[in-house]
Amino acid sequence: MQPAQKFGDNPVEVRETGHYTEEYVPSFVEKWDSLIDWEKRAESEGNFFIDLLRKWGVKSVLDVATGTGFHSVRLLAAGFDTVSADGSADMLAMAFENGTKQGGHILRVVQADWRWLNRDVHGEYDAIVCLGNSFTHIFSERDRRKALAEFYAMLKHDGILVLDQRNYDAILDDGYTSKHTYYYCGDDVTVEPEYVDEGLCRMRYHFPDDSTYHLNMFPLRKDYTRRLMSEVGFQHIETYGDFQHTYRSDEPDFFVHVAEKE
Ligand code: SAM
Repeated sequence: MQPAQKFGDNPVEVRETGHYTEEYVPSFVEKWDSLIDWEKRAESEGNFFIDLLRKWGVKSVLDVATGTGFHSVRLLAAGFDTVSADGSADMLAMAFENGTKQGGHILRVVQADWRWLNRDVHGEYDAIVCLGNSFTHIFSERDRRKALAEFYAMLKHDGILVLDQRNYDAILDDGYTSKHTYYYCGDDVTVEPEYVDEGLCRMRYHFPDDSTYHLNMFPLRKDYTRRLMSEVGFQHIETYGDFQHTYRSDEPDFFVHVAEKE
């Protein structure tokens, strides 16, 4: 029997930074990876991150939210010296397997929670990437500051942090009633906010076999994320709109922040 997601009697009360390890149960992760075709994802994202890192002259990258390895594998294939970290051992195991399957890449994986990153990961990097709307898993401002400070400390003096997030301003401001359904790779997987307030966005993932999973996330407002980055010490922050087109509207679905250390 595979472990099920556990949110208790009142799921909207679950607002803990450390809860992510219980949300990414193996059955959810496997389903996700089998339906979100990596080729299609690469097509929709294009070379956005690779071009960006090359433009900055980046050679070494720490992927702090490796997940199942999508970005780490792309970065290795593009020739970046990449280390792959994540707080979830299940995710890293899947990432390692994906690396060998997709072009025989041997991922250098390290299990590490962002709040104690420097304890478990060594070295300094030209860039840190935190992608796939991962930073949203942190629930307290203290933990957000701690994680950003850990990222900052692991960058070389002229390094950059590339961190993306869903456009929560649109979800919060357009209200719960006008909530949008996101379709990934056609209509196979639907993702929609099931509950939203200023402290929680509970997302519902529905798969074609009628299975349903959830993730509890903190709805980061774009300017708030930018402010935290600058308060932690990043000198200049550039924010890009969408690079992927899963959401047909004027509003971008995702934002990508590029924060410079010096
Ligand atoms: N970047 C991947 C992608 O785009 O497919 C994975 C994204 S997944 C939404 C978020 C990842 O962040 C998960 O693998 C989770 O284990 C990791 N994560 C969440 N909070 C974390 C924390 N505090 N420390 C380390 N990893 C964390």
